[in-house]
Amino acid sequence: MADIIKLLPDHVANQIAAGEVVQRPASVVKELLENALDAGASQIKLIVKDGGKALIQVVDNGEGMSTTDARLSFERHATSKIQKAEDLFNLHTKGFRGEALASIAAIAHVEMQTRRETDEVGTHLKIEGSKVAFQEVCVTPKGTSMSVKNLFFNIPARRNFLKSNQVELRHITDEFHRVALAHPSVAFYFYHNGSELFNLPSDNYRKRIVHIFGSRTNQKLVPVEEETPIVKIKGFIKKPEFAKRSRGEQFFFVNNRYIKSPYLHHAVVAAFEGLIKSDTYPGYFLYLEVDPASIDINIHPTKTEVKFDDEHTLYALLRSTVKHSLGQFNVAPALDFDQDPNLLTPYGFKDKSAVEPHVTVDAGFNPFLETGNKAVKSFSYRKGSDQNWESLYVGMESKLGDETTAHSISFESDTITGSIFEDENELSESSTTTFQLRRKYIITTIKSGMIIIDQSRAHQRVLYEKFLKYSTIKEAVSQQLLFPLTLSFSKLEINALKDIEKILVSIGFIFEKVEGESITITGVPLLVAESEVGMILDQLISDYQQQVGEENFSHTDILSKTLAKTLSVKTGEVLDKQSQLALVNDLFACKETKISPFNKPIYITITENDIDKKFI
Ligand code: ADP
Ligand code: MG
Repeated sequence: MADIIKLLPDHVANQIAAGEVVQRPASVVKELLENALDAGASQIKLIVKDGGKALIQVVDNGEGMSTTDARLSFERHATSKIQKAEDLFNLHTKGFRGEALASIAAIAHVEMQTRRETDEVGTHLKIEGSKVAFQEVCVTPKGTSMSVKNLFFNIPARRNFLKSNQVELRHITDEFHRVALAHPSVAFYFYHNGSELFNLPSDNYRKRIVHIFGSRTNQKLVPVEEETPIVKIKGFIKKPEFAKRSRGEQFFFVNNRYIKSPYLHHAVVAAFEGLIKSDTYPGYFLYLEVDPASIDINIHPTKTEVKFDDEHTLYALLRSTVKHSLGQFNVAPALDFDQDPNLLTPYGFKDKSAVEPHVTVDAGFNPFLETGNKAVKSFSYRKGSDQNWESLYVGMESKLGDETTAHSISFESDTITGSIFEDENELSESSTTTFQLRRKYIITTIKSGMIIIDQSRAHQRVLYEKFLKYSTIKEAVSQQLLFPLTLSFSKLEINALKDIEKILVSIGFIFEKVEGESITITGVPLLVAESEVGMILDQLISDYQQQVGEENFSHTDILSKTLAKTLSVKTGEVLDKQSQLALVNDLFACKETKISPFNKPIYITITENDIDKKFI
């Protein structure tokens, strides 16, 4: 019988390798940007069309290639970066496999123009599906320009698997961020469909971060620095109060290479322990420098994972360094997230001197008298945000034609509750009794027994339905701000805001201006306090960026969910009796009462029968 094993032809081998190296347009972007950096470029331009499906072009002013090298660079395992196995342990370049260009050329139409400084003319090369389509001399500036078109043209399954342009653009932007953050001294430009997304001049680390994430980031950063024989750590962490519920601004760089490391991430999170809520992630930009011989970046073809020689020591060092920075910059002691947010100084009063408080004592106060609202003074489940806003609410009531709203208004603020509940008996007779358990559950009785309500989920449901409802009213109800509020964002965030502006307006935001890197707000939805606007918009933008283009995606729905989650009463907050009752009433006026907007059960029922059984 004849032998059956054959060597695969190069173009087939390349196509197989491409499966590993190129998952989506963002992978191409990463490889091309890294090649430009390895070529010593000081300026790199990234031009993308249609989320990278139509075009990905990287233009650099690096060292360029000779005509022979230009041809060779598309061969598999052709690299100028390492020559022998030992070099693998002393890597100072991003690339070393010599696989990227060969892989990309196997599955796309690639065009390259390149010239070295010393050469008079450059080389123009066109390769389609691993075959050279043409090669000629050309006039071109020093450096290399690579364009990649029709990605996956010969692998329809892969092409169809690509997500929407927006999603692919998001992945590309993520890669761009990683590379640009790791190399602040290199100038980067990024254009998508003809419009400039980023223009990053050569800068220091801090300014690069601020350039990418917007000028408001500057005040959020705390520097980190430590030098030990094993590792040099520098960079920034974000102050704990800016921890986000969505992941996104966590960056580790090892020897200026972006890496993912759940283990080191854990070290940072551990340093933040007690300072941030358990469902939030701290933001960080940490640059580690280690001896190249002590790491192995060879374990994954896309090279975001790294194996360290001494991970445990690194963990301990990182944790203590971050902790130290938190302490040194006095971030730690001032924070207490269990604090009643009503007691926090509103932004506008931050730097003003305090007025001596006026103390009144209720001499007739008797804690044993069940007087309902007067006995407990604590958190009100609706954070009143504007003194005059009851009157605004009255307007809305008629707009909504909603009786439940009219009912719940009675619990909105102390000033009006007083008059409505002058007759205390009315409250206790006509309503159910409620009880708060462990600052988490509200317990109330029903005919057949009792129900236990998760306060946070219940409030999420109430707010979610409210926001959905607002968004269907033509004229949304807003509270006018006394002074317009100007907030700055990064360009990308502003673009995201523009995408969702209409919906934000429909739920009550009033924008005077959304342009450049700042926005001016003159009105916010009811239920949103002015001091929370920045935080809420941050959250809305990052949720939008995470979810945009995904299937079953409705902007209004996502935004309503985010707002509901952000504004809802949380576990751990004390609710006074009125608020408990208002929440229960509001919940049962909802269209859906059992399931929270995030598909979690809101309450459970325990019947008398269930209780009886326990007593047998
Ligand atoms: P690697 O980067 O792993 O060496 P690549 O396939 O990405 O493999 O590139 C192959 C070779 O082509 C590189 O080693 C380098 O010599 C050359 N090259 C690629 N891109 C550029 C560029 N932008 N400027 C100069 N040389 C380049
Ligand atoms: Mg490379």
